[in-house]
Amino acid sequence: MATPLLPGASAASALSRREALVAGAGVLLWPALVDAQGPPVVHQRPFLFGSPAEVLHRADAGELATRAVPRLFSGLQQMNDRWNAWKPGELRTLNLALRAGRTLQITPSLTALIQAATRLERASSGMFNPGIGGAVGRWGFHDDVMQAGSRPRDADLAPWRAAAPSLSQLEWRGNELRSRNPYLQLDFGAYAKGVAVDWALDFLRTQGVADAVVNLGGNLAAMGRAGARGWRIGIRDPGAAGLLASLTTHGREAVVTSGSYERYRVLDGERCTHILDPSTVAPAGQLVSVTVVHRSAGLADAAATALLVAGPRRWRQVAEGMGVSEVLLIGRDLRGEVTASLAPRLRFADPAWQARVGVV
Ligand code: AMP
Ligand code: MG
Repeated sequence: MATPLLPGASAASALSRREALVAGAGVLLWPALVDAQGPPVVHQRPFLFGSPAEVLHRADAGELATRAVPRLFSGLQQMNDRWNAWKPGELRTLNLALRAGRTLQITPSLTALIQAATRLERASSGMFNPGIGGAVGRWGFHDDVMQAGSRPRDADLAPWRAAAPSLSQLEWRGNELRSRNPYLQLDFGAYAKGVAVDWALDFLRTQGVADAVVNLGGNLAAMGRAGARGWRIGIRDPGAAGLLASLTTHGREAVVTSGSYERYRVLDGERCTHILDPSTVAPAGQLVSVTVVHRSAGLADAAATALLVAGPRRWRQVAEGMGVSEVLLIGRDLRGEVTASLAPRLRFADPAWQARVGVV
């Protein structure tokens, strides 16, 4: 986790900076390219979706933002309550029904979430699969605190592998659904934050706030400008505290990072990342960080997870299937690849990184 270099831990703080630099895969704001002539920026750090979040907007948004931001926080809190598979709420109730083979009617918003995720699962060739919640639970990756322990026994995982749950197995009648596969358990940990960030920017826009950044645990989206240009976004160095690179957003854009270096459990002395390959239900180990830049934060969230699973040999095919072209991937050896469309936009923090990242 990086160190915050700016004032203000939870209260709003006004910063005289034209451009702010936000840690993409973390939750902390980094100052950079300070231009004291620019309008001040207000930076708030609520605790949302189980981790510290960030909301930034220009201070000259004034009253509009003062009214909108508390409603934004409560809207995000409600989404988290409804879509968290591991706490009492609509999704957990649905999982209990799916396991029992019962039919349940759900709200239109959860219907929309599941149906969009079903399309993304298919587009990702199953690398993004929110139907593997049961296996996520077996590995203990759902806990807020990732404690050390032992790996689950293969005999415990084998049924989840054999049952091969997929959202395509859901049977729908309007807003009612059921599953014949009792192993299908929904977990939107790889997707809901991205969807929530898209909603957050839409909401701020309807409230008249046109220039803002919302970051939910590395799922970040920006719109408008911090000053004369877009917002500067930092991508965390997966191997050390600090930044790997930064880029400036154009218009409305999401910068989403999935990493194996921040949420993991040490099991039998080995670091196991919280992202599972659905075909093996074992942690995906080859890439340590994947960043996707796209207009939709929801899609970028699903895609970053899928590409981390796909690994060095298969990521291009999955990126193509999901319609993402701006991608930066870093492997376990701390060498990386960046697509030709993203490469010219990146400014590496250190020339050593630039030398280790090939343009493809
Ligand atoms: P992210 O940080 O967006 O990559 O999401 C990781 C979270 O999504 C994990 O903590 C699990 O709850 C869940 N998850 C793990 N592996 C997958 C996968 N292959 N597809 C969908 N969700 C997953
Ligand atoms: Mg994701």
